[in-house]
Amino acid sequence: MRYHIDTIPVWDAVKLDTECPLCALRRQIERGEVDRFLGGSVMEPDTRVQVNARGFCQRHHVLLYAQQNRLGHALMTHTHMKETRGKAEKILQAAADGAGQGGGGLFRRLGKSDADPLTAAADTLDSLTSTCILCDSIRDNMQRYAYTLLHLYTHDSAFKAAFETSRGVCLKDAALLLRMAAEVLKGKDRESFARLMQKQTADNLKRVEDDLEWFTLKFDYRNADKPWNNSRDALERAVTKLRSWCLGAEPDGKK
Ligand SMILES: [Zn+2]
Ligand SMILES: [Zn+2]
Repeated sequence: MRYHIDTIPVWDAVKLDTECPLCALRRQIERGEVDRFLGGSVMEPDTRVQVNARGFCQRHHVLLYAQQNRLGHALMTHTHMKETRGKAEKILQAAADGAGQGGGGLFRRLGKSDADPLTAAADTLDSLTSTCILCDSIRDNMQRYAYTLLHLYTHDSAFKAAFETSRGVCLKDAALLLRMAAEVLKGKDRESFARLMQKQTADNLKRVEDDLEWFTLKFDYRNADKPWNNSRDALERAVTKLRSWCLGAEPDGKK
């Protein structure tokens, strides 16, 4: 697969010196996409069709809702609901028709004729309610950034030095980078990158774990007068390292 290279945002994110530059990039894309989707009147018909088909996950409904554009949010939800209602009716009809006989026509077409029609309906409803156009868009953009990061790592010695001395990435983005490295890196680059991930992740998880431990010890009255060191935001940073950014100050420093 070919990816577009986009070096400036990746360089900027590494210069931020955060717990994970990829989390900072993901959040930038997310904020931009939330704004873009709520600019409903300018939404291209193509995008509209995709919104109708896929809708938004819970996290992204919460973010859309927080923007206080109830009309834009309601218009997208309305057309998505219309489309989803049609699909849900077919699924539930097939479940009802198949309930007494062990197989419905829709599920046979879906290649699920062996499944209990009620379980098959449940599985199909689960997939119907697991799609998110915003998550998909973020995922596509993150592939491009992961590719760019590896491109810079192998082609730009200044970037390589900056990344090697950075605080590394979160575990989720270590997975993103390793998967991309498996696809695009060869020979020595592949090995050196895997070694960097191993050492950098081990060192930085331990650093944040120690900060978090000191954060908990600060709750002991005997430590009340001792300095916080780097521990004030250790809980937020630990969650970032473990699960990717979701708590605390914006990961790209935006107010
Ligand atoms: Zn991350
Ligand atoms: Zn989503």
